[in-house]
Amino acid sequence: PAVKRTPLIAGNWKMNFDHLQAIAFVQKLAWSLKDAQHNYGEVEVAVFPPFTDLRSVQTLLAADKLAVALGAQDVSPHAAGAYTGDISAAMLSKLDVRYIIVGHSERRGGHGESDETVGLKARAAVTAGMVPVICVGETAEDLEAHGAAAIPVQQLQAALSQLPAEAEFVVAYEPVWAIGSGDPATPAQAEEVGKALRDVLRAERGDAVADATRILYGGSVASQNVASYLKQPNLDGALVGGASLKVDEFSRIAQFTK
Ligand code: PGA
Repeated sequence: PAVKRTPLIAGNWKMNFDHLQAIAFVQKLAWSLKDAQHNYGEVEVAVFPPFTDLRSVQTLLAADKLAVALGAQDVSPHAAGAYTGDISAAMLSKLDVRYIIVGHSERRGGHGESDETVGLKARAAVTAGMVPVICVGETAEDLEAHGAAAIPVQQLQAALSQLPAEAEFVVAYEPVWAIGSGDPATPAQAEEVGKALRDVLRAERGDAVADATRILYGGSVASQNVASYLKQPNLDGALVGGASLKVDEFSRIAQFTK
């Protein structure tokens, strides 16, 4: 029997929107989804604002009882202490954050984050009761040298080695060459890697985890292509960057129909 995984449409705002813009955006998004009679039971929608916006968005979501989940874009691997500039998982948990992106390529590449650091961040999220969205993906050079799946598989294995057996997590396959490029992976390419990642989950964590864990595709996702990914048996959602900054477009993405 086919296993049902609730699709997750996740908007990674990156370094965009101050807290006032964030409130206006989330309000409009909620109205738009309501107007469209978006079925929250069938598709989960999450936004990942910058840290400085989280408290404002949390307050809005709680006051208006909006069915949008809150995510953060990063977290410290450390619990507390002398780590200037870091934000701990416990701090995020207090803000009703449910998801935390770890290992985004802009942090692996731009901030030199190792597989080990990414795994420790995922573990910090889990320890504090949240769900890490573990990002994996190959660069154009990796693709040339090793094919699509090898690097993402290796990155996922490294992160899993840091995670407790009972951890809940999401995997996001984001080919680095597809991010912000307007040149997404084809659905078949993304599915091929999605399948390889699910095989890793099955081998390392068993059937229950492999069947329940959502694997997202990310990289130039837009309303015209989102359904083509969600149709694939091993892809369960999208991590959306640029297109998550336009309310109407992100709302349309969340209303995809297979
Ligand atoms: P993009 O970004 O949708 O703008 O390609 C995706 C991401 O970086 O998560």
